Amino acid sequence: MTLPKNVYKALEDIVGAANISDDPALLDSYRYSLAHTAIHLGPYYDTHTPRGAAVLLPGSTEEVQAIVKLCNRYKIKFKASSTFWSAQGYPSEDDTIQLDMRRMDRILEIDEKNMHAVVEPGVIAATLQAEAMKVGLNTHIPGSGCSCSPLASATSYFGSGPGNLYGGWYYDNLLGMEWVMPTGEILRTGSLGSGCGWFCGEGPGPSMKGVARGFLGAKGAMGVFTKCAIKLFAWPGPATLPVEGTIPAYKVSLPDRLRAYTLAFPSWKAWADAAHLIWDTGIGYLAHRQFSMFGRDLKYAMVKILTEPTRTLGDLGELLEDPEVQRVTEESIRDFQIVLAGMKGLFITRDASVIDKYWSPTYVQHNPAVPNGSAVLKGWVGSLSPDFKYEPGMVVAEGDLVMMHGRYSGMGPKAMISVDIFRLTKGKIVEHWDILQEETVKTVSGNPMFSNPQK
Ligand SMILES: Cc1cc2nc3c(=O)[nH]c(=O)nc-3n(C[C@H](O)[C@H](O)[C@H](O)COP(=O)(O)OP(=O)(O)OC[C@H]3O[C@@H](n4cnc5c(N)ncnc54)[C@H](O)[C@@H]3O)c2cc1C
Repeated sequence: MTLPKNVYKALEDIVGAANISDDPALLDSYRYSLAHTAIHLGPYYDTHTPRGAAVLLPGSTEEVQAIVKLCNRYKIKFKASSTFWSAQGYPSEDDTIQLDMRRMDRILEIDEKNMHAVVEPGVIAATLQAEAMKVGLNTHIPGSGCSCSPLASATSYFGSGPGNLYGGWYYDNLLGMEWVMPTGEILRTGSLGSGCGWFCGEGPGPSMKGVARGFLGAKGAMGVFTKCAIKLFAWPGPATLPVEGTIPAYKVSLPDRLRAYTLAFPSWKAWADAAHLIWDTGIGYLAHRQFSMFGRDLKYAMVKILTEPTRTLGDLGELLEDPEVQRVTEESIRDFQIVLAGMKGLFITRDASVIDKYWSPTYVQHNPAVPNGSAVLKGWVGSLSPDFKYEPGMVVAEGDLVMMHGRYSGMGPKAMISVDIFRLTKGKIVEHWDILQEETVKTVSGNPMFSNPQK
C-alpha cells in the first residue's frame, strides 16, 4: 500500500524528511527473510515478511506519541523494532508502518547505588555492559547476544540467556518504563509514575508488566516502549577485559576471580539438582548448556526436518514419537558407544573379549592390508608392541555409520593420523574403511593434525 500523500506529509512533519521513506528498495531492506531461521523452519520455507507502507525513525518520545496518534486517526497499523534481530519486529501486513527505533540510543543514567540503568530502545547490550562494568556492575544479556536491545528484550521479548542463573530473566529485570500505549497516551509505570524515579516497575495495583509484556513479551503488538530501567547486578571482574584477536577468532582471559568449568550430567534430574545448588550458593555467573536443540537425541528428527521439504520445526514433537526416528536415534547413540568401547578395548586396554562382543565375525574390511573377518583382530591384541599407542579423537555418529578420528603411534618411525569409518548393524561392527596419513608436527598453518582426544 502507498500512504496517501497527506498522511505521508503529516508523518514527515513529525520526524523530518531525513527520517521517513516509502522507497520500495529501502522498504525491502526492512523485510525479514524467514530462510534466516531455516534451521528452525527447514530450508524449504523461504518466505519474506511483507513490505511495509513506510519506514520512520523517530527521535523522541514526543515524536513516537505523535506518530501513534496519527496512525490511530487514519487507522494505519504500525510496528516498532529496535535492533531487528527478531522476525516479529517487522510488518506482518503490507499496509503497516515500520518504526525503526535506532535513533533513540542513549543510556540516560547508570544508577550505581540502586544498581540500575535507564536506556532507550536503540542501546545495545554490549554498550550497556561496557558502561556498567566501569562501575563494577553488569547487565543480563539474552542468548542471542550483545547486539540485542535490553529495552526490546525487557519490554517486548523473551530475554532468556546464559546469565539467567545469576542475573535474572529480563522479565524480572524490568523496572520503571515509559510506554506510548496503542492509544497514543503515555504511561509511566511503578515508581516512575509517582515521580519517584526509575527503581521500581510495580504498583500501585496490579503489575503493568503483565499487561504490557506478559511472560514472553507482546512483540510489538502493544504500542511503543521509549525508555525503561533495567536492573544491574554485581560484576566481580575488572572495568574492561583485554580482548585478543578479532571476530570470530577473538579470546579473552578469565579475570582472577572467575573460573570456567565444563560439567557433564548423567540425567535431567542431576542437572536440575545441580542448577538449583549452583543458584542457591550464588556461585554460577554464567551457565551455558551445550546439549542444545541438536543434541544427539534430537539429531535424526532434525535431519528429517532439514531434508524433507514438507517438514518444519513444528513437526519435531510428532517426529520424536515416530518409531522409525526413535529406532535410528537409539541405534546411533548405541553405535557411538560401541565403536568407542570396541576401539578402546582393542587398542588401549588390549582386551580380546571386546572382539566377539562388538564385532561381527563376518566383518568386511576395506583396509588394503587387512583380511576380512574379526578373527584377525584377536591376533592383534596379543601381538601389539609395548610402544604401540592408540588415541581416539572426535567421534561422529550418523545413521548406521560412526567415524572416528585417531592417532596410532609406535607402529613405525612416524605416528599415523587416521579416520576410521565403521558401519554397524544390530549392535555389531560389520564393515570398516580407513584413511591413514603420516603425522607432521610442523604444519604450514601451525595447527596440529590431531586434536580433541577422547580421554
Ligand atoms: C540467532 C538468534 C538467537 C536467539 N537466541 C535467543 C535466546 O537465547 N533467548 C532469547 O530470549 N531470545 C533469543 N532470540 C530472540 C532474541 O532474543 C530477540 O530477538 C531479542 O532479544 C529481542 O531483542 P532485539 O533487540 O532483538 O529486539 P527487536 O528485534 O528489535 O524486537 C523484538 C520484538 O520486540 C518488539 N519491539 C522492539 N522494540 C520495541 C519498542 N521500542 N517498543 C515496542 N516493541 C518493540 C519488536 O516488534 C519485536 O517483536 C534469538 C534470536 C536470534 C535471531
